[in-house]
Amino acid sequence: MYGAIIGDIIGSRFEFDRGNKTKDFKLFTSESDFTDDTVMTVAVAEALMDAGPDADEKTVKGAVIRSMKKWGQKYPYAGYGARFINWVLTDDPEPYGSYGNGSGMRVSSVGWLYGSLERTREVARWTAEVSHNHPEGIKGAESVAAAIFMARTGSSKDEIKAYIEEEFGYDLSRTLDDIRPNYQHVEDCMHTMPEAFECFLESESYEDCIRNVMYIGGDTDTLGAIAGAIAEAKWAVPEEIIAQAKDYLPSDISDVVGSFTQYVK
Ligand SMILES: [Mg+2]
Repeated sequence: MYGAIIGDIIGSRFEFDRGNKTKDFKLFTSESDFTDDTVMTVAVAEALMDAGPDADEKTVKGAVIRSMKKWGQKYPYAGYGARFINWVLTDDPEPYGSYGNGSGMRVSSVGWLYGSLERTREVARWTAEVSHNHPEGIKGAESVAAAIFMARTGSSKDEIKAYIEEEFGYDLSRTLDDIRPNYQHVEDCMHTMPEAFECFLESESYEDCIRNVMYIGGDTDTLGAIAGAIAEAKWAVPEEIIAQAKDYLPSDISDVVGSFTQYVK
């Protein structure tokens, strides 16, 4: 779970095209902070631990809605999209057809919690559908969770790439150098997931993956959360990077991360 959170923290100071698209930068500075990607990742993870491994659709969706509202209201200024914060503040929130990249940035815990790829995709879909029920929003969540499941269960980068292309239709033929010149801050799944996958596919370690994110730019904290979550499943996050990131996290967030780490052991 640190994979997503640390990608968010490191990417935060380069969001909105503030970086200069280089792999050579300091991972953590006084300007780094966690954002909505961390808060919602924690919210979904807590909900799914509460719901249990065999929960049905209604139980999962109810738990995810309650938890995202709770955490969103605890941290209302973490940088949500306008429509999502409205959703958080509504009593009985309804899905709003979103294809924003929020469905993919919050889903990473799903990749760790279930025993099969089919179940992983099913629960990922449910976590998206409560708000991001546009087909592209759902695809974003399912593809990220599937990649994490595959990475942690021993699939190679080539196998993950082939599965994602075939099942979700994302074009993963572009290299980071193809993407980089014209890529800007954009918040939809269609222009976030393929780029996040490519950051992972062209990396050799967790840190290298996060550096790839800043190399192409875009919605860097969300890209960092997504690509970082997949890279963590492949390589784990180095302890010294985790140690630095801990300074940025309030205790309520750290508590959920700690419980989750124990839960998936
Ligand atoms: Mg963010």
